[in-house]
Amino acid sequence: MKCEKYLELISLYIDRELDQDLIDVLEEHLSLCQDCLVFFHTMKKTVTLSRTYYKKKCCRVPKAVSTKIFYHLRLIYKKEQF
Ligand SMILES: [Zn+2]
Repeated sequence: MKCEKYLELISLYIDRELDQDLIDVLEEHLSLCQDCLVFFHTMKKTVTLSRTYYKKKCCRVPKAVSTKIFYHLRLIYKKEQF
């Protein structure tokens, strides 16, 4: 599987919407691929931060914005691959 495919899994993994077999596959890849691991940590931090702010209701990140951030991160990630 290409790294690009794992990026989709990472998003689902963070949202806890991934099946156990795919979790195993993803975790194995993260233990071997530094690039995906960096992406995973960045993504997780972004999600955690936005959830914290959302809970405090001091700042709500609209879905459209978080989607844009996600695609922007993917774009940066892709550019760094080449
Ligand atoms: Zn990878």
